[in-house]
Amino acid sequence: MIVATAKKRTGESATGPCGGIGTGTAADYIPARPTLPKLRAAATQCRGCGLWTCGRVVFGEGPKSPTVMLVGEQPGDQEEQMGHPFVGPAGKLLDAALEEAGIDRKSVYLTNAVKHFKFERGEKSKRRIHKKPNDAEIRACRPWLEKEIEVLKPRIIVVLGATAAQSLLGKQFRVTQQRGKPVKSALADTVIATVHPSSVLRAPDDEREQARRDFFADIRAVAKRLPAR
Ligand code: SF4
Repeated sequence: MIVATAKKRTGESATGPCGGIGTGTAADYIPARPTLPKLRAAATQCRGCGLWTCGRVVFGEGPKSPTVMLVGEQPGDQEEQMGHPFVGPAGKLLDAALEEAGIDRKSVYLTNAVKHFKFERGEKSKRRIHKKPNDAEIRACRPWLEKEIEVLKPRIIVVLGATAAQSLLGKQFRVTQQRGKPVKSALADTVIATVHPSSVLRAPDDEREQARRDFFADIRAVAKRLPAR
């Protein structure tokens, strides 16, 4: 059984906001000869970091041979409740950007750098408030993302926001400086970074419209790199 084979790694374990303790890496749970269905099933058993106690795992979704893979940060409150990536407000904005760029959402694979929703409870409302995953959690979850890329072999990877960039392009990568332009990477033929759509929603009132335009422009830049149909 996968859980039973997990090794505790002294110094790598992290206590999650929901009280869990992880082994330090999801690599302990990666199945032999991985396929997408095998990966998805195995991820439900993952205890790679302390976030496993934060609710259900939300694995990537999309076609088996996608041209484009979009990688976000982590599932949000609605994603965790529904068990699907990018179905909350940020996902709706992403849908609009994809539609405007002429990219069919059903043709892309959507996933996250971290597969569990990290949150803390609001003091009064007890609402689940998003918390950014830390370095250890991003590192622990990376094997799932690596295997998704290895199995699906997308031609274009779109990195949405700083957490996905940290996971795939390193901590020194600055989305704000390099957004919308192809990045040299062995991960895929084309790798492009932009902001996470949630950052557009969180922008101050007087900056939100410009943030939305810039985000949509970055997604249009992705569409221009799609092979002609
Ligand atoms: S966040 Fe990733 S590494 Fe941590 S328990 Fe969930 S699936 Fe495993």
